[in-house]
Amino acid sequence: MSQETSLRFIFEDTDIRGDFVRLDESYREILRVHDYPERVADLLGEFLIASVLLSGTIKYKGRFVLQIRSQGKIPLLMVEATHDKKIRGIARLAEEGATGPDISADDDFSMLFAKGTLVVTVDPIDGEQYQSVVPLVGNSLETCLAHYFAQSEQLETSVKLAANGVNAAGFLLQQLPVQEVPDKKSRAAQWDHHLILGQTVKPDELLSLEGQVLLQRLYGEETIRLMKTEDVIFQCSCSAQRTAGALVVLDPAELEDLFDDLGTISMHCEFCQTEYDFSRETLAELVRDGGTTH
Ligand SMILES: [Zn+2]
Repeated sequence: MSQETSLRFIFEDTDIRGDFVRLDESYREILRVHDYPERVADLLGEFLIASVLLSGTIKYKGRFVLQIRSQGKIPLLMVEATHDKKIRGIARLAEEGATGPDISADDDFSMLFAKGTLVVTVDPIDGEQYQSVVPLVGNSLETCLAHYFAQSEQLETSVKLAANGVNAAGFLLQQLPVQEVPDKKSRAAQWDHHLILGQTVKPDELLSLEGQVLLQRLYGEETIRLMKTEDVIFQCSCSAQRTAGALVVLDPAELEDLFDDLGTISMHCEFCQTEYDFSRETLAELVRDGGTTH
């Protein structure tokens, strides 16, 4: 049985919703195409979960991208989730000697991402992309996101995240616009109550329990309406067409020189490690097709 799901729910008679996400195989697949130190694999898991949870808070179709750029041992960590729950992610490690930087299990978040910024991008299929950039605060992705929500969200939002290189899981609580509970004090009290209960969850509970079991354990007294479950899969959005698109923005003369020197040009997708080879003819063909399909 696949437990690869996002489980959405609402607490009855409140304006609070939740989403529980757990990744097993999709997370392991992403790790299989890379060779990351353990600590990086854990962080990547937390980021992937966060991207799935946050993509669920957005109303329209498109891509949600979460990345940290830094001057630390991990200059870039980037994950994406689409509205239909396809995920991908990478980490770029600083060059340090032949085997890359030495990253150990207890390396500090703020050190790995020294002088980092968190970049949140929403890229709708129809519509303008928008981006928020916030400095890193605290010593975990959870705290960074709490800071981000405090700055940008009108509605109270909280996430819990856990990952161990095999599974990744997390859950989100978010206030809904006023509907059931118009009274400000009651609304705030309800939020605090649900938040406090949610904060008691331990990483190993998140990682090992199924969504419904976990909800029962955390919120046994509350009436919960389950909304829907959705599968999450690892699927890279790269294609020969898109990669060709990246090549043709090069200076035509430069491109000609490359073909003269190499015969075929190889392009490599960092996310899924797929190799795309283009000859002059295949590139021209893809560009021609691209012109008619878009
Ligand atoms: Zn790819």
